[in-house]
Amino acid sequence: MSVIERIEAIEGPALSVEFFPPKTDKGEQQLRRAVEQLRSIDLAFISVTYGAGGSTRDRTRDLVVELEASESYPAMAHLTCIGHTKDELVELLEDYDRNGVHNILALAGDPPADGSPASGDFTYASELVELVRRQGDHFTVAVAAHPELHPRSPDRASDRRHLAEKLSMSDLGVTQFFFDADDYFRMVDDLSELGCDTPVHPGVMPMTNPTGVRRMAAMSGATFPEDLADKVEAAVESDRHAIVVDAAVALSQRLLDGGAPGLHLYGLNRAEVLLSMVEQLELGLDSPA
Ligand code: FAD
Repeated sequence: MSVIERIEAIEGPALSVEFFPPKTDKGEQQLRRAVEQLRSIDLAFISVTYGAGGSTRDRTRDLVVELEASESYPAMAHLTCIGHTKDELVELLEDYDRNGVHNILALAGDPPADGSPASGDFTYASELVELVRRQGDHFTVAVAAHPELHPRSPDRASDRRHLAEKLSMSDLGVTQFFFDADDYFRMVDDLSELGCDTPVHPGVMPMTNPTGVRRMAAMSGATFPEDLADKVEAAVESDRHAIVVDAAVALSQRLLDGGAPGLHLYGLNRAEVLLSMVEQLELGLDSPA
């Protein structure tokens, strides 16, 4: 099923969750537990990350195919294009097609960290959007958005212009995580001024692991709330869950009150915080199963 049809069929804001393909047996068990626990929520879709340059190609593919077949919601495959040839990506898209996966999050990925030129046939995510579109209308294409601007963007105007162009070719946008709702609303206003009304779901990252979130924020150009991280780190174990959930709920509520069409939750393959958030937000608890 297309994630757009699924989003439209859901009453109220659409909740989605991002997973990553685990590397270890322990990680595998943790993911399985999260998938099981999240069955109590009426999710719009889940998405599975893809290691840049194809480092998780088979693990991403296998997990997406499995979840698409076994769960009541559609699975969306992240796919990055930098470092890949067209033939490699067409082969993967044809494989997804044969296995019933028709929702793709089309991403550029990152060029080599050492500054050397990227190999392959692609530079920007919009080229991957075009490639997926050429595979047929049965694919739904989502793309990434950066409310605080993409770190490689030289200025706000060009960032927003390229984002508006990419979104206009796509069905849905999903944002990088951020901690100030005004960054999201400003991006939506900028896009609207550029004539782009493709829905963009905000990404919400609970502060469960401040060290990991700080590292990811530095990579993605997101402002990191040191005060919240300090509070989580200073708390005794038994208080931590509530602090993390309350902060994520406050941000989510502001986003929903301001008109965000859904929430894309970064749970890092764990469900406990997400379930508490959904309960406090009083969302999505009517499982279709
Ligand atoms: P693009 O849209 O191509 O943008 C990259 C930069 O190029 C921006 O500065 C943009 O303004 C600029 N640009 C775009 N088009 C043009 C043009 N025509 N001319 C000049 N400049 C242009 N990474 C992974 O490796 N795996 C994942 O699974 C993954 N999942 C993600 C999920 C989400 C929701 C988000 C927000 C990011 C994800 N990323 C992932 C990170 C992403 O790959 C990086 O942020 C990457 O650096 C840029 O990807 P993009 O798709 O935003 O690129």
